[in-house]
Amino acid sequence: MVAKEASVCVKCDLYHSRKLAVPGEGPAEAEIMFIGEGPGFHENERGRPFVGQAGKFLDELLAGIGMQREQVFITNVVKCRPPGNRDPRPEEVETCTSNYLDRQMQAINPSVIVTLGRHSMGLFLPNAKISDVHGQAFQAKGRLVVPMYHPAAALHQQSLRPVLEKDFSKLPALIAKGLEASAGGENGSSTPQEKQNPKQLNLF
Ligand code: URA
Repeated sequence: MVAKEASVCVKCDLYHSRKLAVPGEGPAEAEIMFIGEGPGFHENERGRPFVGQAGKFLDELLAGIGMQREQVFITNVVKCRPPGNRDPRPEEVETCTSNYLDRQMQAINPSVIVTLGRHSMGLFLPNAKISDVHGQAFQAKGRLVVPMYHPAAALHQQSLRPVLEKDFSKLPALIAKGLEASAGGENGSSTPQEKQNPKQLNLF
């Protein structure tokens, strides 16, 4: 099981500096999965994702669309805190996603994946610029993916708050669309070409 394995994982160097691994949390049947970057100070202390200031804002953004964090699955690209909050290294991202995140996506099979920040966006849209694509829906790696700014970015740059609020306001319709697509068998069945070239979806 992912959570148990991640808590004792020594597959990359990040275990040296972690206090608690942060595998992620939420219902196994969640329709929406949020993927952040990696645990910060508070998450490392508590073993839970997004429990600091950025998490408080994430909760507010969810409340703004009538949702609570208990309804969604929240996780990160890497499950252990990079020392000093440095960016996760490519080999750490590769090791952690292939061992944990990929399995979480497969098990939960959400209708919509929301990437928070450029690290998780890079897993699906490696060449995209977040300022160009935020709030838009893409079919990538067989999934409906919506890249968004990281809530922590809005704590430093106030002008991003309304941007995130607007992008979040699109989620209820997207979830409905995603459910429709998976009912029709579209979800997870993109062609190899689509896997390499994410396709923008005109949902709005
Ligand atoms: N930032 C992240 O990317 N993830 C967390 O869990 C907390 C802050």
